[in-house]
Amino acid sequence: ITAKQNKGYIYNKCTVKKVKDCMSPQNSINVKTSVYDAIIHLFNFDLGTLIVVESEKLVGIISRKDLLKAALNRKNMEKIPVSMIMTRMPNIVHCFEDDNIIEAIEKLIKHEIDSLPVLRKEKGKISLVGRFTKTNVTKLFYQELKNKSI
Ligand code: ADP
Repeated sequence: ITAKQNKGYIYNKCTVKKVKDCMSPQNSINVKTSVYDAIIHLFNFDLGTLIVVESEKLVGIISRKDLLKAALNRKNMEKIPVSMIMTRMPNIVHCFEDDNIIEAIEKLIKHEIDSLPVLRKEKGKISLVGRFTKTNVTKLFYQELKNKSI
């Protein structure tokens, strides 16, 4: 038995499949959005994490807990922009659409986060194209387990 076979069916799948094969569509808010509107956006689109952009460029990320913390501080959430509470570049953990899924999963585990912004590198230009989340991983595992009937 080779080392690769020994790793198992799902592991092998995850080293072949690309992030773009199972990511969620792009969904982001502008850096000038208020914390209040960000919370509304989170509910409207049923998201767990918000990606923040400025001129279409990735500049920040906000989790549910970041929003809860802002709410506990009882500041005027209609006045505070998300830029005040977001985690910023260069601290944002991201991946590229052509990365293997296993690399993206390892980032989620290592950094103890729920999602990664997905970027595309094209002709030296980098753009934001999607989100890779724990839900994507759960769905992928479900599909693969069902296909294999194990
Ligand atoms: P929650 O806080 O709801 O449990 P996460 O575990 O995803 O959600 O987020 C924990 C912290 O990490 C938050 O402060 C958030 O801003 C930050 N964070 C979330 N995703 C990323 C990411 N991809 N890169 C860097 N920081 C992130």
